[in-house]
Amino acid sequence: MPRAQAAVIIPYHGGERIGDCAICGRLKDVETSFSKYLAPQFDRPLPAEAGQLVVLPGLAAAGDDRQVRRCPSCGALYDLLRYSEYHMNGAEDSEELRRMSAAGAADFARGQAWQLESLRREIDDLQDAAGALGDYIDRGRPAGEEGRSAYAAMQEKREAAAVRLQVLADRVEALRSVCPEIIAAWADAHSRVCRSLLATLPQRSEDEQTARFVVRSWLESWERLPAGGDAFISASSPWLSGYRDLLERELAPGS
Ligand SMILES: [Zn+2]
Repeated sequence: MPRAQAAVIIPYHGGERIGDCAICGRLKDVETSFSKYLAPQFDRPLPAEAGQLVVLPGLAAAGDDRQVRRCPSCGALYDLLRYSEYHMNGAEDSEELRRMSAAGAADFARGQAWQLESLRREIDDLQDAAGALGDYIDRGRPAGEEGRSAYAAMQEKREAAAVRLQVLADRVEALRSVCPEIIAAWADAHSRVCRSLLATLPQRSEDEQTARFVVRSWLESWERLPAGGDAFISASSPWLSGYRDLLERELAPGS
């Protein structure tokens, strides 16, 4: 299986090293904090070691009230949840810092891999739509208002794809160094689908040989991805219409 070569942090494989870690060894599996506006006598902050955990950048769907943090020493992952309650006499804030189990960390990586995949699909769909409009303009030669609106629609799809390409590139770049497990989960799922297709696709007709050629080039790109190369790898081909379904099975929870 291809793994990230450029990982800055050792991927986290479970809790067996927690006791040896200077940071995690001082944190319980669950830590909580409490603070109340204008009532410092009730303050109960998180242990200082919680502040040494690094916030993971490049995650999808993480807001102000949820962060994922990583221990810079042993790689353990933590969920940090923040709650605010508003009362007549001021707000009460609390936090919960929860260490992920090995299974929880694998679920987290798969969930984030799915977010990357959703973004990748949006780009594929937008580029396909722009390509179809381009073909229509080239071949149909629509005149007047029809031509102008087809051209405008094509430009709009291209621009929307470009915006998402940049988001994907930034996210992949960040995750390669701070959480390579996510990139590996994503790339491994694609690689498994490509390998199973190469093992089962027939190669009699010219179309079937083209399909095999396409899958082989995708596989090379996915094997390269954890360490480098383009963040966007198309999975759109008229010869491989069932590809998305196969991939969904690979990324499904519990797979
Ligand atoms: Zn640690």
